[in-house]
Amino acid sequence: MSQTLPLKDKNAVVTGSARGIGKMIALTLAQRGANVLIADLRAELAEATAKELAEATGCKIVATSVDVSNAESAKAMIDKAVAEFGRVDILVNNAGITRDNLIMRMDEADWDLVLGINLKGVFNCSKAVVRIMMKQRYGRIVNISSVSGLAGQAGQTNYSSSKAGVVGFTKALAREVGSRQITVNAVAPGFIPTDLTKDLPEELKEASLKQIPLGRWGKPEEIASAVAFLASDEAAYITGHVLSVDGGMVMM
Ligand code: NAD
Repeated sequence: MSQTLPLKDKNAVVTGSARGIGKMIALTLAQRGANVLIADLRAELAEATAKELAEATGCKIVATSVDVSNAESAKAMIDKAVAEFGRVDILVNNAGITRDNLIMRMDEADWDLVLGINLKGVFNCSKAVVRIMMKQRYGRIVNISSVSGLAGQAGQTNYSSSKAGVVGFTKALAREVGSRQITVNAVAPGFIPTDLTKDLPEELKEASLKQIPLGRWGKPEEIASAVAFLASDEAAYITGHVLSVDGGMVMM
């Protein structure tokens, strides 16, 4: 493997990486030299993804099942990464779900589920890794937020709240751990066709195009390269930042 790979000898944990954007993030980190723990609620799919990415990149790619909304499960995920790799340099908090509905029809259970995975999950996984990164005096945490958390989206009070919460969490933690050379940043994707978005009504998908100055939806690769940059040493002086990767949909 070439010495010039920017993430050579780095060890990463990517949550929700059995498919979709998380899988592409895992592949991109591995293509840049990192070993990766594929951590997902779907154990079998995570195993298959790990095998596929290991064959494609030659890096050490291992799978584990995790429910990020459960603190013990999140800790076990980080313990597994330490057992496999010896250290954890990069955590990407990507696992996320939607349960969309207008507030009048939104169940309390759908509020709790979305906040529990999308926001408390980020807390659980970050808390589990931070002590290790503090000891190492090195770490990169990248959280996946959303345009929905920055601008708000009707029908997504739960999801928008969780993703806005991720922004506040990112900035607060960045201040807490900066003195140990741990950076904490967020990427806010726009509309990226994946399994998560496949059931959205066609008219809504078409209408979203009109709000995107670049006139097209994004690709998982375009989110993954932003994450890989923030996870690299090139981004060593960037912390507490929210990087929108949305074709200009939301300009702050
Ligand atoms: P996806 O549904 O394809 O993938 C999400 C993955 O997370 C799945 O593999 C799923 O099994 C896993 N997951 C779900 N609950 C989990 C849990 N409790 N513990 C561990 N893993 C769990 O979705 P995606 O489109 O790839 O989204 C990835 C991230 O990007 C999410 O945080 C999402 O909110 C965010 N995002 C997506 C878009 C988009 O347009 N697709 C836009 C903005 C933000």
